[in-house]
Amino acid sequence: MESSANEERLHFGNMEYGYFSFLHASFLFFFQLSFFCFFFHLFSIYSCKHYRRRCMIRAPCCNEIYSCRHCHNEATSVMKHFYRHDLVRQDVKHVVCSVCDTEQPVAQVCTNCGVRMGEYFCDICKFFDDDTGKQQFHCDECGICRVGGQENFFHCNKCGSCYSIALRNNHSCVENSMRHHCPICYEYLFDSMKDTAVMKCGHTMHCECYDEMIYREKFCCPICSKSVIDMSREWKRIDEEIEATVMPEDYRYKKVWILCNDCNDTTQVYFHIIGQKCGRCSSYNTRTIAPPVLTQ
Ligand SMILES: [Zn+2]
Ligand SMILES: [Zn+2]
Ligand SMILES: [Zn+2]
Ligand SMILES: [Zn+2]
Ligand SMILES: [Zn+2]
Ligand SMILES: [Zn+2]
Ligand SMILES: [Zn+2]
Ligand SMILES: [Zn+2]
Repeated sequence: MESSANEERLHFGNMEYGYFSFLHASFLFFFQLSFFCFFFHLFSIYSCKHYRRRCMIRAPCCNEIYSCRHCHNEATSVMKHFYRHDLVRQDVKHVVCSVCDTEQPVAQVCTNCGVRMGEYFCDICKFFDDDTGKQQFHCDECGICRVGGQENFFHCNKCGSCYSIALRNNHSCVENSMRHHCPICYEYLFDSMKDTAVMKCGHTMHCECYDEMIYREKFCCPICSKSVIDMSREWKRIDEEIEATVMPEDYRYKKVWILCNDCNDTTQVYFHIIGQKCGRCSSYNTRTIAPPVLTQ
């Protein structure tokens, strides 16, 4: 049955109607091509690797047109020191519609062709993004747009940034904790597009940098040296190791002063090659220090 159907089709192609089928095929090809172009437009021209949107922005700083401020910052970062600068998003005054090429004051809808230049639009950040799945929202206190859904975040006034609601009343506040560079990769954290981890001490770094740090078996904050995870099992293991390792006679009764990175207390303890245990909180995250100068 099938083979006869195929034969028929071949046969049909050889008949005088073949001309039409050629037309038909070329029409299909054209249609597919324009269809492809349509998608090419949607996903390539109307977007950059950062955002999907239907406009470009005119940079207020250098008056050039870019797809987005990250594209601008990447382009200028390779320039000489003098030209290197970041675009201030709130200062953007004009956008260029990608559908009709009309330059115009910032707004969500193109005044010329009526297209929505971004499904999400923030009038303060002059920000457009079609991918509303990111659940963008503008935080007035932060002064910028964030992603992840407003209901999942609260703004901590002491830390000066939006944090996951899981951290509400459940973190150590560090003033302007996000207004610094990630201690691992040195990217500025406050408006980084990557997720941020808040450690027990309240200091912050990228989640991926944090994971990398733990993977490399570094368990203390690079900023304040406090332990970032519960170390009690590790301290117990060191207790046992010390018990099994007797120090030579000469060192057995030697005492040293230590500063505990975890509780900040200073205590005098017996020296041991494996580690010194804090006399107050039992942490081994300590360092030896010079004996305190006694004041009278
Ligand atoms: Zn971009
Ligand atoms: Zn337009
Ligand atoms: Zn915003
Ligand atoms: Zn905020
Ligand atoms: Zn806080
Ligand atoms: Zn980082
Ligand atoms: Zn810290
Ligand atoms: Zn301690």
